[in-house]
Amino acid sequence: MDLGLTGRVAIVAAASKGLGRAAAEELSREGAHLAICARTASTLAETAAHIQKTTGHQVLHQALDVTDSEAVAAFVAAVEARFGRIDICVTNCGGPPSKSFKSTKPEDWRSAFDQLLMSTIFFARETLPRMQRNKWGRLITITSSAVKQPVDGLLLSNSIRAAVVGLARTLANEYAADGITVNNVCPGYTRTARLDGLASSISARTGCKAEEVFAGWEREIPAGRLGTPQEFAAVVAFLASERASYMNGASIAVDGGLVRSLL
Ligand code: NAP
Repeated sequence: MDLGLTGRVAIVAAASKGLGRAAAEELSREGAHLAICARTASTLAETAAHIQKTTGHQVLHQALDVTDSEAVAAFVAAVEARFGRIDICVTNCGGPPSKSFKSTKPEDWRSAFDQLLMSTIFFARETLPRMQRNKWGRLITITSSAVKQPVDGLLLSNSIRAAVVGLARTLANEYAADGITVNNVCPGYTRTARLDGLASSISARTGCKAEEVFAGWEREIPAGRLGTPQEFAAVVAFLASERASYMNGASIAVDGGLVRSLL
């Protein structure tokens, strides 16, 4: 299937590792001009060089924190200056820590709010008006299967990601007439550094070995295994494509069947 992504300009936030990196790589492989960001400049530069080398397409990279609105604005402006337009924006950020309600302080809530919701708002504010000018655009938010079925121990994620979905669904209505779609992708358990970190923190808290934590997750998933970042990225690339032109306002789980709900 030709996804029609050749020559499109795509931003992927928080993309030096894990799901963001896999989505960036897939979009570049499909022919998009790519711009990526993350906080650690060295890892980001290595990722950008790797993607450019393997796909042969240009990759702009800028080290920044997605919770910094001015840095996000400058980044999006730099992408437009380099590639002439913005067609696709995939929002993403690192996930908040696993905590019980009792141990969660007000500053933990504020930090998770900035990471998950405000970062999405910052990218949406900068990219949607630019997409609107071209009467074409794709805004894709990366959240979690937790927006469909809360995950025990991930209080901050369960609570604040729901607001991201509310935002995405509302933007889908507001911008549809301009040829822009807004969809949300909800990863289940996917093998990345984030999941390794979660397994270690559960292991430290419960005394259970990390391998047992992974085995427990696998038992919950009808597919019987964790997902790969590449399986997740394929869905992002499809949503970003010409072929997904009539998908709007959806929240798509990429979770091996983990979420048991009908919709
Ligand atoms: P990951 O492997 O830890 O990668 C996170 C990426 O985000 C890195 O490139 C990191 O680079 C960057 N990043 C983190 N905080 C940032 C910030 N404030 N500003 C800019 N870049 C930032 O995580 P992942 O597994 O890909 O997960 C991505 C998102 O999906 C997270 O929100 C996670 O909670 C969620 N999720 C993951 C899974 C899963 O199973 N993997 C499941 C459900 C939801 P720097 O640290 O250098 O900034």
